Amino acid sequence: MDLQGRSLIGAARGSGGAGESKAVNPTTGEELEPVYLSEGEESVEEACRLATEAFLEYREKSGKEKATFLRTIADEIDAVEEEIVARMSAETALPEGRCRGEKGRTCFQLRLFADLIEEGSWVDARIDHAEPDRAPLSKPDCRSMWRPLGPVVVFCASNFPLAYSVAGGDSASAWAAGCPVIVKAHASHPGTAEIVGTAVRAAVAKCGMPEGVFSLLFGSGRTIGQALVKHPQVRAVGFTGSRAGGRALMDTAAARAEPIPVWAEMSSVNPVFILPGAMKEREAIAQGFVGSLTLGVGQFCTNPGLVISGREGRSAFAGQVASLASETAPATMLHKGIASAYHAAVGAMTAKDAVESLAHVEADAGSRLAGAVVFGTSADDFLADQSMADEMFGPASLMVEAEGEERMLAVAESLEGQLTATVHATEEDREQFSRLIAVLERKAGRLVYNGFPTGVEVCHAMVHGGPAPATSDGSSTSVGPRAITRFTRLVCWQGFPDDLLPEELVEENPLGISRIVDGVRG
Ligand code: NAP
Repeated sequence: MDLQGRSLIGAARGSGGAGESKAVNPTTGEELEPVYLSEGEESVEEACRLATEAFLEYREKSGKEKATFLRTIADEIDAVEEEIVARMSAETALPEGRCRGEKGRTCFQLRLFADLIEEGSWVDARIDHAEPDRAPLSKPDCRSMWRPLGPVVVFCASNFPLAYSVAGGDSASAWAAGCPVIVKAHASHPGTAEIVGTAVRAAVAKCGMPEGVFSLLFGSGRTIGQALVKHPQVRAVGFTGSRAGGRALMDTAAARAEPIPVWAEMSSVNPVFILPGAMKEREAIAQGFVGSLTLGVGQFCTNPGLVISGREGRSAFAGQVASLASETAPATMLHKGIASAYHAAVGAMTAKDAVESLAHVEADAGSRLAGAVVFGTSADDFLADQSMADEMFGPASLMVEAEGEERMLAVAESLEGQLTATVHATEEDREQFSRLIAVLERKAGRLVYNGFPTGVEVCHAMVHGGPAPATSDGSSTSVGPRAITRFTRLVCWQGFPDDLLPEELVEENPLGISRIVDGVRG
């Protein structure tokens, strides 16, 4: 594909005017062609105008039509797999296997949402029939279901150039819900974004969808990103990235005359608790832990950044972890900013008097390379210094010694909201530490038992969310079909005749979907 370096604004190309940039190969430091033109606020206005116009038509498409659109996007992406893999690995230093795997996951997500909306029951249709003779007051006929919100802005994630970028989980769930999507590209992988964006645009044309159902804008977050979130026609935002970036967008959205939801996935240290009985099986746990820590150079939001265990067996476990970590080689991070943030976070932790270094795979602090680092501290010191619980985005983890149930509970209680919390336990541990699980349920979106947090399965039951600051709103998930309701709102039709109702609520149930009628699920 001949990359043009220009935004996709509906069926047109952007003309830039607000600066330019090039992607950089993080392995070699070399700039990659072409030049990408940054858009300004006029392009934001045009993309929002097109999306608003498209919404009126797109929201009325049937589940089948929208499903065909999502499947066509997946087919178009499949057709350019080789181009995606070549460009993505050059822009991100991610190995070929990961690029192919992420492409597979992206297309799987699109097809999963297609199946969901084609079947149709996701709208949660509820019908309460009228009771005109009810005393003392008559009961009206009420029917409700989820309806789409309107244009959604999606910020591409640096660490998921496909699965949480142009046609990733946020976009797929918004399109599935019936919302047009305006994507703000990430500066670290514009070429990957353009290839996928071109595939989406081809699907828009093939399926006869309104052009404004998709736009892709290149440019700065602080200008066009902010302008998009402020735009009165934008109804919701999907974001994956830093806590500072997510917080800034949440504040902008909340300050609007009409505030809108920002579904931001931000920071999480994903604590792993190793209980005393499980510690006896430490060799296997140490292997699994180091594998989870170093996977993808630790650049996963589910990376295990904190390990909590008792005293017994801890130093032998730490020794095994240190020896396994030392065998890993430093690897290139996604972009310079992420690498320097990692080196700064590791430097800040190293400088703490109460923290010891258990393993440190050296990598030049000025480079884009990162090596695995494992620190140790005591529960008392951890509880006295909240900054020890901050995310070190990359292959770094802190091991906290917390002797006995009360200390472990104190550490668990001190934690901020998390995407995941893991417990390694035996039968015997389970009785002794039952209160721990109850604390962790309040802290995390996903509880992992005798496993590791990295590797988020895309399935119906998955929850990839969690209380703040893991996400802006822990009431939903950004992975799996449940993510669709983030871009919807409930509407109730009272006293409406069949011919004025959405098909899902028509008396005869022409779509054959599951509904709750007079309180009974059918
Ligand atoms: P980021 O700096 O938050 O940027 C993500 C996107 O948000 C970019 O498109 C950026 O635009 C935009 N943005 C950032 N601040 C903004 C603001 N104030 N207003 C409007 N838009 C804004 O994240 P990143 O580049 O992916 O990585 C930086 C750090 O984020 C990492 O070192 C890591 O600590 C963290 N991170 C965490 C996760 C996680 O899942 N926990 C994932 C990825 C990154 P511009 O690029 O144009 O500024």
